[in-house]
Formats: sequence, C-alpha cells, structure tokens
Amino acid sequence: MKVLFAVSECVPFIKSGGLADVAGSLPKELKKLGTDVRVILPKYGLIPDKFRSEMKKVKEFTVQLGWRSQYCGIEALEHDGVTFYFVDNEYYFKRDSLYGHYDDGERFSFFSRAVLEFVAESEFYPDVIHCHDWHTGMIPFLLRTEYYKRPGYGLIRSVFTIHNLQFQGIFPREVLGDLLQIDSSYFNEEQLEFYGMANFMKAALISADHITTVSPTYKDEIQTEYFGENLDGILRKRREDLSGILNGIDHVAYDPEKDPGLAASFGVWGLERRVINKLQVQRSFGLPVNDDVPVVAMITRLTKQKGLDLVREVFHEIMATGLQLIVLGTGDPEFEQFFREMAAQYPDQCGVYIGFDENLAHQVYAGSDLFLMPSKFEPCGLSQMIAMRYGSIPVVRETGGLNDTVQPYNEFNGQGNGFTFANFNAHDMLFTIERGLSFYHKREKWLKLMAKAMETDYSWAQSARQYNDLYSDLISRSESHVF
Ligand code: ADP
Repeated sequence: MKVLFAVSECVPFIKSGGLADVAGSLPKELKKLGTDVRVILPKYGLIPDKFRSEMKKVKEFTVQLGWRSQYCGIEALEHDGVTFYFVDNEYYFKRDSLYGHYDDGERFSFFSRAVLEFVAESEFYPDVIHCHDWHTGMIPFLLRTEYYKRPGYGLIRSVFTIHNLQFQGIFPREVLGDLLQIDSSYFNEEQLEFYGMANFMKAALISADHITTVSPTYKDEIQTEYFGENLDGILRKRREDLSGILNGIDHVAYDPEKDPGLAASFGVWGLERRVINKLQVQRSFGLPVNDDVPVVAMITRLTKQKGLDLVREVFHEIMATGLQLIVLGTGDPEFEQFFREMAAQYPDQCGVYIGFDENLAHQVYAGSDLFLMPSKFEPCGLSQMIAMRYGSIPVVRETGGLNDTVQPYNEFNGQGNGFTFANFNAHDMLFTIERGLSFYHKREKWLKLMAKAMETDYSWAQSARQYNDLYSDLISRSESHVF
C-alpha cells in the first residue's frame, strides 16, 4: 500500500503543536506494518539548517494559481526510514511564523495544488492521500472534482483527519475562483459556501472518502452543536464515513529511561531518581527547591481552548493550597500577560516561561508531580499522555481525548491513572487539583499511581493498525465518495 501524508507541520522539522507530533510519528508506525508512507509538507524558512542542508532537490515545476504560474521546487530527505518531501517556494514559506499571514488562503491553495501536481511529476501514485487539518482541506475536493480525470489519479482515495475543528481555514470566496479556478456552481450552502465565505475544512468534509478525528470521544462530540463549530450538520450527514482513532505518542522520542535532555533518567523501577529532575526544574523556574512541595505543570498553547479561563478564575485559591505552578507556553497576549503578572506576584510559587522550548518541555514533564489540562475541548491531547509517560499525574477535564486516555483514580482499588472532572467549572477544577494534592504525601499510593500512569500504553501500535485497516478498506471499494 502506498500512502502520501499531506500536512503543514511535522516533527522533527517544524512544530507548533500536536499535529506535528502525529505527522512525525504515525508514518514510522505505518512503515512497520509494511505500508509505503511518504510525507509532504511546506519547506518553511524556519526549518533548522541541519535539515535544510540534507535536502536534495528532486523536482521542479510550476503550479498554476489563477493567472499566475508559481515556481514549485520539491526537495527530499529520508529520516528514520521515512521519505519526506518539502514544497519549496520562498515567497510563500520563507516567513517568520507558520500561520496567521494575510495570504494564508493563497499559501495553502498553492500547497494543495503543489501536492496534487507532485503526484504525476514524481510518479509516486499513492493509493491514499491522507490529508491533515484545514491547510490540506482543498486536496480531497480538487482530487474528486478535477484531478480524478487525469491518468493515474482516478483510483486515489482520500482520508481527511480533523486534528482541531476550531481552525477551519475561512477565506474570501475569491480564493476559490480567482486562485483555485473552481467552478462557481460549487459555491452553495451544501458544498463550499460557509456564511458567504470559503471554508477549506468544509471542502474536505464534503469530499473526502473518509474522515477521521483523533479520539473516539471527540468524534461523538463534534456531531453536536456545542462542539461542532457550525459544521456539526455536515459531520452528522457523514457519520457513516467518520471514525475516531486515538493518537499515540512516539515512545522513542518520549522515553524517560533514555531521554538525553533530563538531569536524571528514570523508569518505573527507578522512581526515586525522578526527584533530581524535580529539583532541577524548580531551580530553572526560580522556585524554592523543595521536594515536599508538589509541582503542578502546564505545557500548552495559551488559548481559551486549554481552559485557562478556569485557571485565571481561581488562581489565588490555587496558590492558597501551597503548591508550585509551572507554566511553559505561548499564545494569546492576555494569557501571557496574566501568567507573567502572577509569577511576579507569587515568586515562590509560580514559575513561568513564555516561549516554545522542546527541551525544557521534556524537563518539565519529568520534573512535575501533576500535569494540569482543564481544556474546554480537546480533540485528543498529547501532553497528558507524555506527562503520564514521565510520571506526571494528569488533572484533566473529561472531554475529547482526555476522556479517552485518563481514567479517574480510585483510591480504594488503585484503579485509574489521573484525576478528572466533568463540568467546565473553575471550582470543580480546583477541587480536583486539591484531591490530587491530597495523595501526594501518601507516598506509597502516589508511587503506585505514578507507576500505573507510566505503564499505560499510549504507543501508536494499535492506532496505526486501525489506519492501515481503513486504508485497505477504502482501496477495496470500487467507488469514491460521491457528493
Ligand atoms: P495542541 O496540539 O492542541 O497544541 P497537544 O496536547 O495535542 O495540544 O500537543 C501539544 C504538543 O506541543 C505537545 O507535544 C507539547 O509538549 C507541545 N508544546 C505545547 N506548548 C509548548 C511549549 N511552549 N514548549 C514546548 N512544547 C510545547
């Protein structure tokens, strides 16, 4: 089986969130199952030189965007046995950030067409193009309405994975006509129109052969109005073609026994060594160094999605419990400012680093006692799984993938691997943090709980098999999805 992943970010080259982790780790697992997976992504100027210098140019062609012929170079490198292709056009991708530019609609229209043109140029005709999030949403649509007529494209099936339904790629309708040259008859409520605008995510949801999302609970949630981001109607219509496959984490990249960035490596059988990491992290964040004080961590994009309103609402009560809070994140200026202020107000209890730092993240996972993730919604969430792997016990709201990965701790029979609450309510969260803290000094129970969390299997093996089965099933069908 041949599968082409089209994605806008991918570890270890470029990352802004969990999407990159998935694109970097799932292909390796699929390879183990014998599937020939290759990955194509933009060649951002932000990709570190050590990777750029390894890339070899394999193709050069032009991509037509409206009346413009745009240069498109394809460069390739192999990493961990997987071939990665990079779409090169400096005008579009040599910028100081990945997203949020005035011409994102044009940039990812270009990327989408580049991916589809590349198929014929490279003669790598995949059985399945697996697209991820809105950046690649136009690919299934263009495949079904235009490219299928070309030799070699007719049998290609498409899978679209929703990593986060909140980001849809909504642009003025001119992007469809002027740039992508899509017939205006498709611009209607049933198809590409979304409240007078063009919506890339919607294009994929109507046209992909199959849609997946990254956890079973989120699959159910997005079919409701509350979580559906105005696309729940379409998702309900396509429920037969919609499945939830839980993300995994890369057990090699996230391995406390072998992680070179830690002050002390440790495993379930060396948990006493973990404290060395804790003391190191307290030092790094300028907090009093003391193992008796529980450290609660957050490593996150600082956005409303992550439940930061709840943290802000009861912040002083959280501090009154005596814990230390460590925050590593970037995002909305209002939250960045809030946490900076709190760090100034509680210098002995609140340590904040505003920035994105992969190494520091590993140290915080390994050095914190509890990991807080009170998300308003959470398609899957990788951070809680990484935290558990490093023995940091999650405190989460029961939504999306958090609901599928964290089972509430039962002190009587020792079942469960974290602490959970159901309602999006600041005091429910506070109560759950307090409950978690109450076990911290019950050393024996706590050690068992850590071991339980660390032993939970969040590797990709099972989910990769589900994707593989899905690809096989799609290939065996005689017809593509008709819309
Ligand atoms: P999302 O994709 O919604 O941001 P996930 O929990 O799925 O959330 O994935 C977040 C990933 O990004 C995790 O690997 C986490 O460790 C990482 N991460 C988030 N913020 C930072 C940061 N400021 N520095 C380093 N890593 C971060």
